[in-house]
Amino acid sequence: MTIGDEIIPYEERRSVRYRRITLSVLADRVRISAPKNASTKQLEELLHTKQTWILKHWLESQEMQHRPVRQYIDGGKFPYQGQVIELSIRRHAHTSIRVTLEGQVLVVHLPHDLPDYGRLSNVQEAVMAWYKVQARSVFTNKIEEQEKLMQVTHHDFRLKDQKTRWGSCSSKGNLNLNWRIIMAPEEVIDYLIIHELAHLTHPNHSEKFWQRVAVFMPEYPLWRRWLKDHGHELSLDS
Ligand SMILES: [Zn+2]
Repeated sequence: MTIGDEIIPYEERRSVRYRRITLSVLADRVRISAPKNASTKQLEELLHTKQTWILKHWLESQEMQHRPVRQYIDGGKFPYQGQVIELSIRRHAHTSIRVTLEGQVLVVHLPHDLPDYGRLSNVQEAVMAWYKVQARSVFTNKIEEQEKLMQVTHHDFRLKDQKTRWGSCSSKGNLNLNWRIIMAPEEVIDYLIIHELAHLTHPNHSEKFWQRVAVFMPEYPLWRRWLKDHGHELSLDS
């Protein structure tokens, strides 16, 4: 079946054991179970009225399956500004954890006396903290640059930690950006900043708003699409 531009594998099951028509979204298909005597029209009607529900749950289940699982071990791969960087865990003589990016290698220096049971969560926390620090600094610079070009100024900037929202900008000029976007290609970061700063002029998603975004980034639909398709991959969850 096709909903919007999504093609969803679909299976119909009929049995005298089924007393009513039920829909279930499985990992690889949508199943409709119906009593033997249910009419095709009844099934079609149900599918039609449940379209939005089916699409929502189908997309969610696809995203869950394709969400990368990060390995906090030597050689674990992480996205950073569109690049792939590799984790390297080393021991050092200091008492605190340090994270440094050396070329394409993200080195986590662990205190030599850190017990092994505390290791994994410590590494994960340290890596996440490192990402947030980078995000703040990269975003701050980019906002400043972009504001000069767009001739606007924001009031306050905050780094946000949300699962589903990438950014927002209130009419008062309070700019919020999700730190996870630091994992995306640079153009996506730029697009998001231009998008939010354009809200200082147009506090909506009107045609004029998109025109303004296009002035500063003509190819923005490409990166907007990227975010829709790949946003769920920007995760550090283990
Ligand atoms: Zn917006």
